[in-house]
Amino acid sequence: MSTPFDHFNFKKSELQVEGVKLSEVARKLGTPLYVYSKEAFLNPLRTLQAGLKEVDHLICFAVKSNSNLAVLKMLGEAGAGMDLVSEGELYRVSKAGISPRKIVFSGVGKTAPEMAKALEHGVYSFNVESVAELETLNAVALQLKRIAPVALRFNPDVDAKTHPYISTGLKKNKFGLNRKEILNVATNIRKLPGVSFNGISIHIGSQILTLSPLNDAFERAKQLMLELNSLLPSPLTFLDLGGGVGITYKAEKAPSLEKYCQTILKHFGPKAKLKDPIKLLIEPGRTISGNAGVLVTKVLYRKQRGSKDFLVVDAAMNDLMRPALYGSYHDIQPVDQKHTKGTQKKTDIVGPVCESSDCFASDRKLSARLASGDFLAIMSAGAYGFSMSSNYNTRPRPAEILVSDGKYRVIREREKYEDLIQGEKI
Ligand SMILES: *Cc1c(COP(=O)(O)O)cnc(C)c1O
Repeated sequence: MSTPFDHFNFKKSELQVEGVKLSEVARKLGTPLYVYSKEAFLNPLRTLQAGLKEVDHLICFAVKSNSNLAVLKMLGEAGAGMDLVSEGELYRVSKAGISPRKIVFSGVGKTAPEMAKALEHGVYSFNVESVAELETLNAVALQLKRIAPVALRFNPDVDAKTHPYISTGLKKNKFGLNRKEILNVATNIRKLPGVSFNGISIHIGSQILTLSPLNDAFERAKQLMLELNSLLPSPLTFLDLGGGVGITYKAEKAPSLEKYCQTILKHFGPKAKLKDPIKLLIEPGRTISGNAGVLVTKVLYRKQRGSKDFLVVDAAMNDLMRPALYGSYHDIQPVDQKHTKGTQKKTDIVGPVCESSDCFASDRKLSARLASGDFLAIMSAGAYGFSMSSNYNTRPRPAEILVSDGKYRVIREREKYEDLIQGEKI
């Protein structure tokens, strides 16, 4: 029996990933436990690489979606670059051995010391979001006697009415610069000798489920690029087209990555016959990591409540914050296939933290026989799962394991209580 999540499927009556039984690792390593699949990470990456092979491109994985060192190293070895939003992430990608020429530094509030670090590291581009930030970067670069390579983040103001999933590409959002502001920077670029204006970047939102807003944004970015090329001393060398392609959490139909690449090529591929050569960057996070991981948890107690039951599990909002933070939907699968049959009952799956929002799912039809000691898998937890986790309630964060070819490897040990009080003084 298959789930909508390619690599996590029922085989021999058990939920497995790449030949590893989730119940076995859960028993051995304890729960809650993050389990990732190497193939599930690499499949979308390879599809994007193949889809863009006609053009000079770089796929920069959005580190914030899953920043485990082993994950970054694996993706780097498969050819990915990285998209960062902090100096901490720069530290991580350096440890993972990612080439500085494959790193872009995004984010709406970079500090001067962060800029200096990234400049000395030699990153490929700073994606700059405001004129004030550009002036700061210019000053930092001049002080270090360097030239900072820059892409300005363009807010294409894609109409939200027709595209309700967009959240960062509208005039009212805090992100990016509008066309006028960018043209103004280009006209006055000589006043900023510490920066080299090389590209523009866009990122119009996350979990985008239709290609049409992206198509509109790409067209607007192309028009702006052409305008800029006529203003600047030399044409732009790259465009960063952002991340944000949605994945399947429930039954939603995510855009195919092949079609997504075709949409990019329509505007910027060989057939678009652009006068000047251009390198294309994209910054997918969730597209690569979202369905590459699950959070395995154990049922502690069943609490019966007439019309619906509660299952209290050993994972909590501190381990996977998305449902509490955005009310996001995660599919929940029993690890033992026998629980997919028999009487199903309306159930809320809740964690042990003393907050009403510590609830992974409400009103799910789950087997009435699920009881203490049974395992559940919270699906699609590879992106913004562990990377958003915390120690709230002084809970050690879960271990993370990476499965490949029937074997698994612990890529982060479960935290110990000593780790949690490190740096504290009595
Ligand atoms: C978060 C973010 C991404 C990745 O978004 P996904 O929805 O995970 O693909 C890419 N670029 C920027 C600038 C971001 O802030």
